[in-house]
Amino acid sequence: MENNSEMRQWVDDLKLSHPLVIAGPCSAETEEQVLDIARQLKDSDVSIYRAGIWKPRTRPGGFEGVGAIGLGWLQKAKAETGLLMAVEVANASHVKLALEHDIDILWIGARTTVNPFAVQEIADALQGTDKIVLIKNPVNPDLALWLGGVERIYNAGIRKLGVIHRGFSTYEKTKYRNIPEWQIPIELHDRFPDLPIICDPSHITGKRDMIQQVSQQALNLNYDGLMIETHNNPDKAWSDAAQQVTPESLKQILQNLILRKKTDETDEFNSKLQNLRLRIDEYDAKMMETLGKRMQIAEDIGALKKENNVAVLQNRRWNEVRKRMLAMGLEKGLTEEFIDRLFKAIHQESIGHQEKIINNSNDATT
Ligand code: PEP
Ligand code: MN
Repeated sequence: MENNSEMRQWVDDLKLSHPLVIAGPCSAETEEQVLDIARQLKDSDVSIYRAGIWKPRTRPGGFEGVGAIGLGWLQKAKAETGLLMAVEVANASHVKLALEHDIDILWIGARTTVNPFAVQEIADALQGTDKIVLIKNPVNPDLALWLGGVERIYNAGIRKLGVIHRGFSTYEKTKYRNIPEWQIPIELHDRFPDLPIICDPSHITGKRDMIQQVSQQALNLNYDGLMIETHNNPDKAWSDAAQQVTPESLKQILQNLILRKKTDETDEFNSKLQNLRLRIDEYDAKMMETLGKRMQIAEDIGALKKENNVAVLQNRRWNEVRKRMLAMGLEKGLTEEFIDRLFKAIHQESIGHQEKIINNSNDATT
């Protein structure tokens, strides 16, 4: 797949505002519910109406969606409000039914993106159509798997594409339902700047009172759009009750968002930015130089240890270094997690350099 400006044209054509807004219930429940929410979202910044028809539930026994009958309700909602309709598809028969019911946008859910067989089946069923297809990140933090999903759809000839960042599962308890791991969508954006990115703060947070903050974070990172689960009676929703908001609160959330300009063309801004970047470049160069020197010394230590037949890993010494650097880093305003990760990486590299010396001299003697 190549970066291709064709991929993002649909966003610019469709959006009524920045960001592009996709809203609607987690699940279609009844015809009245689907129509009521759509009517309330009609004259707003919402361009696309979402509703789950087939619901992937973690365990059996939960509400598994109303099925194909709901597609008819979406058609009615579209005829009445003019909103475009989006549903989740997880296999070829879902795609077929969605196409038959004139659904405009199909998205692949997080539990489906993990499965290349399923994504390929969906891609094959989409061949020759002109639909907009959005690929949610897989539940596990694996950029290659996410991109693989996008590529399968791209290779089926679909050019109106986008990705949805909905966070990643974790066994640890965190304040998020699915941790954002922002560096993953950022890396994806670096590789494919023309691939639209939409944030799903509902599934990231799992809680309606955190949606504003995560939506703002997405806009600060120049995301193209937001997908926010919206329900006329959130507390009584048949799925994901805690994270859904009313159409009223959605409007408030959108109103509160502070829009960031991509760049500011004024000279003053540019020259200030350039200066700051130059200073960063200088520090980066210094860091590389220092690290190179540090590794050189590690090699000298390796030679000394070899001479004296001493083991490479000296746990006591390493723990001392770690403690000292933690105290120093904290004082400089760095976070504990970062210092720990940085020094583990430096230590690993250092051991590698020492081992290189030891193995080389072994070679020389055999
Ligand atoms: C959904 O959007 O309702 C959904 C099931 O999301 P995800 O695939 O992100 O879990
Ligand atoms: Mn949901």
